Amino acid sequence: MAGEPVRWVMTGKGKPLARIPIDTLSPGPDEVLIKIAGCGVCRTDLRFYYDGAPTRHDLPLTLGHEISGHVIEAGDNALWWIDRAVIVPALIPCGHCDACQHGRSAICPNQKMPGNDIHGGFATHIVVPAHGLCEVDEARLAATGIDLADLAVIADAATSSFQAVMETGVGPGDLVVVNGVGGVGGYAAQIAATFGGRVVAIDINADRLGVIGRHCALALNARDKTPDDLKAAIASFAESHGLRQAGWIILECSGTKAGRDAAYHLVHERAVIAAIGCSMDRVEIRNPKLMHFHARAIENWGCPPELYPQALELVLNGRVKVTEFVEKHALDEINEVFAAAHAGALKRRAVLHAGGATS
Ligand SMILES: [Zn+2]
Ligand SMILES: [Zn+2]
Repeated sequence: MAGEPVRWVMTGKGKPLARIPIDTLSPGPDEVLIKIAGCGVCRTDLRFYYDGAPTRHDLPLTLGHEISGHVIEAGDNALWWIDRAVIVPALIPCGHCDACQHGRSAICPNQKMPGNDIHGGFATHIVVPAHGLCEVDEARLAATGIDLADLAVIADAATSSFQAVMETGVGPGDLVVVNGVGGVGGYAAQIAATFGGRVVAIDINADRLGVIGRHCALALNARDKTPDDLKAAIASFAESHGLRQAGWIILECSGTKAGRDAAYHLVHERAVIAAIGCSMDRVEIRNPKLMHFHARAIENWGCPPELYPQALELVLNGRVKVTEFVEKHALDEINEVFAAAHAGALKRRAVLHAGGATS
């Protein structure tokens, strides 16, 4: 029935997600009730669902941690948020533990991750802590023509990329290699470019390279190239554009073993390599590879909520595009969308919304 609060729950590995009504949703004193505009489908959801990676909360559980929406109810300590449009951080930290106090709230031991610790965003409504919410200026959003549902990707794909760009210190004139320009890497490439990076995008998918090619300096298809070929092509690009042959910044976004191996092959003198997101594959790195080159490897998990407004600003001011990297589907199509995402049949990141129409 239209308007009835529902959620789609995972009851077991690979079992069809089940649509169930939500009985009562009432925010606690520090919480808000959100009517969800959109929730992005992330590789992490697929790992829970298809690979049986354990969620921290027992099943049944609603997956989904890339959420945007409107606050429609709030507890006594969160009344300021009522009627505001928001992005919910994928990792909601407590705000007062040692990790939170030292800029590492993404690993807060008390964090709440929707779709992992608490019911997630593949639903019409959700209750979450108010701490860390990112307000969206709806007047500015309307001027851009972007839907609030599209902004769901800022909750994880775009902000995890933003965090990696900050951690690796991308600056003007740096040569930045983005390996894998799908749902996450597309943002990493764009964000690195806004910080002045000269971005080389690598993928094995010609469609993705075609889209990101408009936002970066060079797009390389790895399908017909060896790792040595890629390294040589990047070195040649650097030479012809007056860029350094050392200190490349490598953002590994493929999330695959082959992709990670290829990315580590590019590590050379004073390189910084950052893996964005998560892969269960084992990657072997010979210690001297980093040591002899005085290179650094960084693993990047999530993004502190304090950085969300800066990432959002890049979208609102038009420097980072989201709509051309998103495809929206009705929430009721969730089982079909999961299957398509798992099969690699989607060209863009799927965002599910309860509104009904597919776009
Ligand atoms: Zn995610
Ligand atoms: Zn904390």
